[in-house]
Amino acid sequence: MTSLSDLPIRDDLRGREPYGAPQKHVRVELNVNENTHPIPEDVRQDILARISTALERANRYPDREFVELRDALAAYLGHGLTRDNIWAANGSNEILQQLLQAFGGPGRTAFGFQPTYSMYPLLALGTGTEWVAGTRGADFEISAESAAEQVRAAQPDIVILCSPNNPTGTPLSLDVIEAVYEAAPGIVIVDEAYGEFIPAGEPSALTLLPGRDRLVVSRTMSKAFAFAGVRLGYLAAAPVISDALRLVRLPYHLSILTQAAAGAALAHSEEMLAMVDDIKLQRDRIVDGLTALGYRPYRTWSNFVLFDGVADPRRVFEELLAEGIIIREQSLPNTLRVSAGTELETTEFLEAMARYNARHGIGSAASADAAPVG
Ligand code: PMP
Repeated sequence: MTSLSDLPIRDDLRGREPYGAPQKHVRVELNVNENTHPIPEDVRQDILARISTALERANRYPDREFVELRDALAAYLGHGLTRDNIWAANGSNEILQQLLQAFGGPGRTAFGFQPTYSMYPLLALGTGTEWVAGTRGADFEISAESAAEQVRAAQPDIVILCSPNNPTGTPLSLDVIEAVYEAAPGIVIVDEAYGEFIPAGEPSALTLLPGRDRLVVSRTMSKAFAFAGVRLGYLAAAPVISDALRLVRLPYHLSILTQAAAGAALAHSEEMLAMVDDIKLQRDRIVDGLTALGYRPYRTWSNFVLFDGVADPRRVFEELLAEGIIIREQSLPNTLRVSAGTELETTEFLEAMARYNARHGIGSAASADAAPVG
């Protein structure tokens, strides 16, 4: 059998590991920050009806410019955006890939503050872009001064800011984005994959778009819209950004099925987003519950919680998995990450953590500042 190393693969791909979050189907799946709430039945029916109509034209290529969908996305985002400000692709991963294809590439650099979303370095690798890792301060927070200084020193072609950040949940204030934009010579991408989970009244980076033609705000329907399986990501930016992406996208990259399904879901955005409030509630329950058990959750504006103070993350992961609950191990020491589930799933997770502590005779709120407990 030929092994990968025997193939004439690109030298820069040799020995690399692909993205590989475990896909295990168990009772309670809280490992990849999905929305675990099902799509309401009436929305499902509408999606089916629209797909059925779309299929009448399945012998033809889909609208390459997905105009109706861009109108619907612009209307959903508001902020005075129109279809010319919007671009979409099969998940925001593909949006980021297209941005790297157009603005990165051999001899160019992309910069992000680590730890951050693990796909950024992989997308850079795949497009031949050099990845440059910046650093964060205590508790993964970033100050405007430090961010601007690091970006000024690195002079990257692309900066990717994750707001709120995955895997830490850390919020990012607009002054950091403004400072980075001023310091950066190139494109600044704000990845708001979890943008709908930030506290009500807090501004999105969309408010910074006017007058900033190098700024791109990336979004997805995978999280708040519970649409991870459909694959629809999008961006808002100056119209000229889409012109750049037209040069690198595959023709007809969004199938009629995707366009129809996303359009139908957006027509029900209020109903689809009704679950966001519950998810935020469950996230806060996780923060409180883990704190009471003696762990140290980080500040989060997302639909997941990164918590520290875990003496043996592997053992916690495995013992929860044995109970049919999957969460996420991180390369950060003594931490685990868990997505907010439904009320029932969240209760199951917290009870399993309490049982874990009890089994191993560990943990209490009193020990929160002490050594790892779990
Ligand atoms: N950005 C961030 C920060 C993410 O966490 C994810 C998914 N985990 C994505 C982008 C990609 O999501 P999708 O391709 O499903 O839109």
